[in-house]
Amino acid sequence: MSDTDTQGHAETLRTPIVAVLGHVDHGKTTLLDKIRGSAVSEGEAGAITQHIGATAVPLETVSQMAGSLVNPDDFDLPGLLFIDTPGHHSFTTLRSRGGALADIAVLVVDVNDGFQPQTLEALDILQRTGTPFVVAANKIDTTPGWNRQDGEPIQKTYEAQSKQARKRLDENLYKIIGNLSDEGFSADLYWRVQNFTKNIGVVPLSAITGEGIPDLLAVLMGLSQRYMKEEMEIDVDGPGKGTVLEVKEEKGFGATLDVVLYDGTVKEDETIVVGGANGPIVTEVRAILQPRPNAEIRTEKRFNRVESVSAATGTKIAAPDLEDAMAGAPVRVVRDRDLDEVIAEVEAELAGIEVDTAEQGVVVKADTLGSLEAMANALDEAEVPIVRAEVGDVAPRDVSIAGTAREDEHKVILGFNVDVLPDAKKELENSDVRLFKHDVIYQLIEDYDEFITERKREQQETVLDKIVRPCRFRILEDHVFRQNNPAVVGVEVLAGTIKNNQYVVKWDGNETTRVGQLNGIQEQGEDVSQARAGKRVSVAIDGPTVGRQIDEGDELWIDLPEKHAKILEQELSSEIPGDELEALQSYLDKKRRRDPFWGK
Ligand code: GDP
Repeated sequence: MSDTDTQGHAETLRTPIVAVLGHVDHGKTTLLDKIRGSAVSEGEAGAITQHIGATAVPLETVSQMAGSLVNPDDFDLPGLLFIDTPGHHSFTTLRSRGGALADIAVLVVDVNDGFQPQTLEALDILQRTGTPFVVAANKIDTTPGWNRQDGEPIQKTYEAQSKQARKRLDENLYKIIGNLSDEGFSADLYWRVQNFTKNIGVVPLSAITGEGIPDLLAVLMGLSQRYMKEEMEIDVDGPGKGTVLEVKEEKGFGATLDVVLYDGTVKEDETIVVGGANGPIVTEVRAILQPRPNAEIRTEKRFNRVESVSAATGTKIAAPDLEDAMAGAPVRVVRDRDLDEVIAEVEAELAGIEVDTAEQGVVVKADTLGSLEAMANALDEAEVPIVRAEVGDVAPRDVSIAGTAREDEHKVILGFNVDVLPDAKKELENSDVRLFKHDVIYQLIEDYDEFITERKREQQETVLDKIVRPCRFRILEDHVFRQNNPAVVGVEVLAGTIKNNQYVVKWDGNETTRVGQLNGIQEQGEDVSQARAGKRVSVAIDGPTVGRQIDEGDELWIDLPEKHAKILEQELSSEIPGDELEALQSYLDKKRRRDPFWGK
């Protein structure tokens, strides 16, 4: 498996890193638990190795679990390393050199539930990062009439099912294949796939009964061996390269890094460079920690100290000055290289993740660099500008920056998977900054979108409330109650809404003459402030005398100021009722016969 070259460097094949993604409740955690559990119950000592944040399943155990589907002699990759935290959130965190850190992914889809929003989001991420993946069509045991065959390969399971059960499952599986095709992926049941670089394999399985898990392991092993062997060739003794999974306080150690090491080795006392919120951190490894098997949680004796670890592995690194380290940031062992070069390398990788910010926009906080980048991408697509983007919990400074935004729609903090610090909570209460928090990106952006739409609607409503709107009405015959001071007449509203206190005009050819001002509206003897088209009301008009300026049968209009006419036509025409729009149009038409630019 390993060759030693003339310099004494060992070329070794490392374990492929596997991530599990999918919609909530589709069974990611159960699947990982089942794989770990079955591996352990295979009974062999060393069947699996628990790492920090990951579980290694050696080839031998994979082969035992997969039975005849995996013959260890066909493989020279050492097994599979499963990232323990499922979900595309951790997947986006796990990156290396701009791509996904996971070499291969399992997209879990509930056969009954089919494609859901997070399934689509996961697909999008997989496509963007160019990560090979298989689809685990999970929960096949819930098919009505299912005859469970615990731990068996899918073919054997299939043979044990009734015709109806098989038909029901097939229907669901083809739905999933259809969904994949809708998203532009050519897919088929995995045993029909000839070329996994062109087609996505679908593996029917149950994370509860273990049926189909042998197939999943066989596909993952086969795919890695066939298509990724070259990428797995590493200089295992070289300086370690990894990605920060989490920054965690540990009793007795201070801030520590949970790291996935994907290349080389890291040893105690070595100098490392880590991506931090304020630039690269240069520090020295104090301790390398691995979980102690069966250790009690939350005691200092949870960990074993080891002198060194090699890729691929999940490990905990204790070192001074790690407080500002960021989840998702690169970690590099310096070893015999030039320190400045390594710093530059880390800087370059951080720069690749930097988010473009605008002068005005929203504040974005996310828990990791990867998720921050994913947020930025999604916001860019939604054409939402960002004024500040940072990894970390919502802090008072975020609130004050959001508070200085010019537009209300930018007085906003979007927090992805983060908490709000107590000080910031207080500041939020005393400001008009809105906080949106979610652990699903599309949901977060949808919430924000809804807020914007609602705001716009409210703004239009206030504008509509304040501006004068067109209205056409007619003085009814035999409904003159008073000649003048004020003139009181019965009218029928023909179009629009008549409102009190507004000016009344009369058309004389293409000219309007102001005849007076409304000073009261009554509907069936009651005072009202307005009346809609179709209503008959009596109105008091200050100014004119019936028989002189106005008369029975006259058509009158509300005087529409030019500025208001312009706003109505250009911004609000979709918001006002049809009859009012008609009135507006004929008002504008008449005005424009004299002055073509009126209201433009
Ligand atoms: P996650 O949110 O994707 O991690 O989903 P979980 O692993 O927490 O599973 C959600 C629920 O589905 C749990 O109640 C599981 O017991 C159940 N579940 C997961 N996989 C299966 C399966 O293969 N068959 C059945 N019957 N239930 C399952």
